[in-house]
Amino acid sequence: MSTFDKKTKGDIYFAQRDKELDKLIDSTTGKVYAHLVKKINCMLCESPDYTVLFTKNGFDFVRCNKCGHIYVNPQLSEESITAHYNDNSKTTKLCQNYLSSKKSMELRSKLYKDFFSKLKEGIPGGNILDIGCSMGQFLKMGKDLGYEVLGLELNEEAAQRAKKKFGVPVERKLLEECSFDDNSFDIISMFGVIEHLPNPVEVIKDVYRILKPGGAFIGLCPNVNSLVCMVLHQSSRTFDGRMHLSYFSNQTIRYLFTKVGFQNKNIEIGTCYTGKDSLLNYFQFLDPFGDEEVKYLPDKFRKFITDKKGWKKFEKKMSELNLGLKLTFIAKKKNCRQISK
Ligand SMILES: [Zn+2]
Repeated sequence: MSTFDKKTKGDIYFAQRDKELDKLIDSTTGKVYAHLVKKINCMLCESPDYTVLFTKNGFDFVRCNKCGHIYVNPQLSEESITAHYNDNSKTTKLCQNYLSSKKSMELRSKLYKDFFSKLKEGIPGGNILDIGCSMGQFLKMGKDLGYEVLGLELNEEAAQRAKKKFGVPVERKLLEECSFDDNSFDIISMFGVIEHLPNPVEVIKDVYRILKPGGAFIGLCPNVNSLVCMVLHQSSRTFDGRMHLSYFSNQTIRYLFTKVGFQNKNIEIGTCYTGKDSLLNYFQFLDPFGDEEVKYLPDKFRKFITDKKGWKKFEKKMSELNLGLKLTFIAKKKNCRQISK
């Protein structure tokens, strides 16, 4: 990750993000200022019963004792979250630079291609709604493939870039502010969005409603059961209490999707990106996000992991076991049934 961070200017972005997080913390308690947060029930099953796993940057990360969902509790109020997406803070700008760097665009391009090749057979044409479309890279690819496209993006800078750079239509709205008819879209996507939602059940229920029968809901989010999260715990960058409110696993994302109407057999979950650099650094008691280093690894393991074939084997195994950094999902709306209230 480190080399990738430097090439994409991700390192500057993450440093600024941490600085902004520090400002939220009440030094007398070590927690986020009480007036900025509110205590909530489980974001998926509404149970008030949970266990605190750890505290990081003033936020408590908890696991629901009923459904197993990992989430932040208490959370910043919705107003302060929305303000963040609308603002033009330094972090937001740096994030846009990071996302528009050549290296990170290439990475996403490959990911999107994989999605389109999977969708090609069942949904070769039609329309796409990309929720949280950022600067519109996915929509641009869809448009080039002949789909009709529309994006929703709250961040002004990202929305402008999408329009200017890729010429794709973007509305600066939340899904709940749009009044799309039932069965409106063939493909609905959310790349790196679900983890930010304060009300995932409500939003995904609406996604299901506006998805056409035969359509697909696709996307990606952090994988709480990735090897990186399971080894690094709170040292993993994934755990960001201000922006990432939910931490899904294969099991809890299925729970969310089936709760709103998708059928388990029509949900396909995979993972991508290994987080190799941060893991290897951490194994050697080094900064996981520092420069990639292998000299302190035990000889046999170093040989295995630095050898191209060895690495490929490792990568393949991680993918088979769903241990990648991000969960990828394709949920198809095959059989229409009543959405449970
Ligand atoms: Zn729960």
